[in-house]
Amino acid sequence: MNLIIFGPPGAGKGTQSTFIKKKYNLFQLSTGEILRDQIKEKTNLGNKIAPIINSGAFVPDEIVSELIERILKEKKYNNRVIFDGYPRSLSQAKNLEYLLKKYKQKIDLVLKLSVSLETVIKRIIKRKNLEERPDDNEQIAIKRYKTYEKSTEPVIEHYKKLNLLKVINGERPIDQINKEISDIIGLI
Ligand code: AMP
Repeated sequence: MNLIIFGPPGAGKGTQSTFIKKKYNLFQLSTGEILRDQIKEKTNLGNKIAPIINSGAFVPDEIVSELIERILKEKKYNNRVIFDGYPRSLSQAKNLEYLLKKYKQKIDLVLKLSVSLETVIKRIIKRKNLEERPDDNEQIAIKRYKTYEKSTEPVIEHYKKLNLLKVINGERPIDQINKEISDIIGLI
């Protein structure tokens, strides 16, 4: 099984991905994390992308695509991937389909963790350092939420049309969400 997980910052994507990964023995492919590791390790690629990531812009598609392909190629990850942070645009979604076909795989499920902006703000403020100004936190939370909604909307529509999308209400307690996800996966 390969799946994609979408959700704004503060939706509980990390918590749910960890749960799914453990329960179904999957590998989480977080593009943001892989890119940040390259920067930490000061690789050629890392040095090249550091200014891009630090400015908040997207890394060029070819770079991310190459990272994805490196993983998809490997047998041990065959049909075992949770895509987190990819695809972020329609062109990346198309590219992912192309790569999956090339390695004889497919997406089986797309999960969207849905939470309101109010909940995201509350959660982000709660987990942030108390020393920071709450109004700053709130502004950042709103900006990230709106950017997420705007950029993922067409991608989510794409998977909805393919009948792969399941929207999960992320406002509920963690164990209830775990259960709903398990039930959905059980039906695949
Ligand atoms: P994230 O941890 O998913 O929020 O990603 C952090 C940063 O990594 C983003 O702001 C982008 O600069 C870069 N990044 C992560 N995933 C992608 C992607 N699929 N396409 C382009 N850039 C990405």
